[in-house]
Amino acid sequence: VDDLVTAARGAGVGHATASRRDEPWPNDPYPAGSEVAGRYRSLRAVLAGEISTESVVATLNDSGLRGMGGAGFPTGKKWGLVAEAQPGTVKYAICNADESEPGTFKDRKILADQPHLVLEGLLLGMVAVGAEQGWVFIRHEYGPEEHVLREEIAALRDAGVIGPDACGSGRTLELDIFVSPGGYILGEETALLECMEGHRGEPRNKPPFPGNYGLHGRPTLINSVETFADVPVILQRGAEWWRSQGIGESVGWKFFAVSGHVSNPGVYCVPMGTTVRDLIDTAGGVLDGAPVGAVQPGGASSNFISPDRLDLRLDFGTLAEAGTMLGSGALVVLAEGTDLLAAATNVLRFFRNESCGKCVPCRVGSTKAHTLLRGVLDSGSALDDAGRGKILQLEEAMRKTSICGLGQVALGPVVSVLGLDNGGAVARPQPRPEGSKDQPPR
Ligand code: NAD
Ligand code: SF4
Repeated sequence: VDDLVTAARGAGVGHATASRRDEPWPNDPYPAGSEVAGRYRSLRAVLAGEISTESVVATLNDSGLRGMGGAGFPTGKKWGLVAEAQPGTVKYAICNADESEPGTFKDRKILADQPHLVLEGLLLGMVAVGAEQGWVFIRHEYGPEEHVLREEIAALRDAGVIGPDACGSGRTLELDIFVSPGGYILGEETALLECMEGHRGEPRNKPPFPGNYGLHGRPTLINSVETFADVPVILQRGAEWWRSQGIGESVGWKFFAVSGHVSNPGVYCVPMGTTVRDLIDTAGGVLDGAPVGAVQPGGASSNFISPDRLDLRLDFGTLAEAGTMLGSGALVVLAEGTDLLAAATNVLRFFRNESCGKCVPCRVGSTKAHTLLRGVLDSGSALDDAGRGKILQLEEAMRKTSICGLGQVALGPVVSVLGLDNGGAVARPQPRPEGSKDQPPR
């Protein structure tokens, strides 16, 4: 498992060239190949006064769109709260493109292929809440995508869509890019704000939420790449259309990064509510036709699920009820025979390394738990009852007392595999058939 994190980060994207794919994604409302003049239609309509900002928020509420960064907060509600916060004050908007959750690389693809949707969503957010300045906060490893964004922003400026008189509306709309200096925790929205203010990137206590007290204490709208990109899709096609795209109560389109032991790792755009099994099949099935051993449906922070739960629907509610989460839209598939405890310990190693150290339970707890589990794995023995008890105690302490999501979920995946078939028994992986494309991570 040593390279699970690295493999999951890169799988399917490889060394992204940021080249746009030939076919348009199924959600894109604009004709393929159209330039700025043929796009940004919702933004133009809002700036021309043809659509009110209140009706933008109402449409988002009607659509049921929820935050795709992982937490699923209702988007229309957030926009409404920021619009109402501190009337008359300067406000800001930020697109969080610091996607760093292991296994998660869907935003990277969206930035490369649909920068026009991301920026239109961000600009619409700025207009809706009353901000003149917006940023895309992007991780520094996403250089090719940063380049795509810079080109798109320059084209918007040349076309007069942004600037001191955006679309001739008399309104100022400015966009810029802030390149993250690096570090997983900077994707946490308040650590991101601290970083942009020039401070050490550590999360703040919440509340207050950034919508009330954000960048430099001003109300700040923060959404992820996919959330912003969904907004113009919904405004162009209508809330009803969006709601009709999913399955049952799970609505809209959803981008997933699929990695691990699948034949075709990559980014897929499927209706919300697609089952875990169908998404694995879409990604070509498990390597060499092996049975599934376990799946993390929502990135490294999400609890593993066992192979008898592959018919679970990928949506916020279903996965939460099943004790895991949709999270960052990253499905990590492990073939049968994979050492699950080792895989989960590797995830824990990532969180231990990335802990900012601000709070003791996260800083000390993640190190203690990792040392214990690493010792068990290195000795080749099973986790005994005493060790299991310590892990459970540490998990509870970290979940209840850490101030941000990293510490709260760091031990969740480990605890989830203790309940699965080979999780506690430290089963060793079976050798893969001769000539197989991949070996299970060790
Ligand atoms: P959160 O629940 O604290 O907040 C979610 C969003 O809603 C935030 O923008 C927050 O400001 C807002 N919000 C919540 N309650 C509010 C309120 N009462 N009033 C106004 N605004 C409110 O979650 P979080 O800590 O921001 O995010 C956790 C998620 O991030 C996890 O589920 C995880 O899946 C995901 N995650 C994603 C990545 C990635 O790379 N995409 C990395 C790590 C974690
Ligand atoms: Fe930092 Fe961990 Fe505390 Fe989050 S939980 S603030 S990462 S020490």
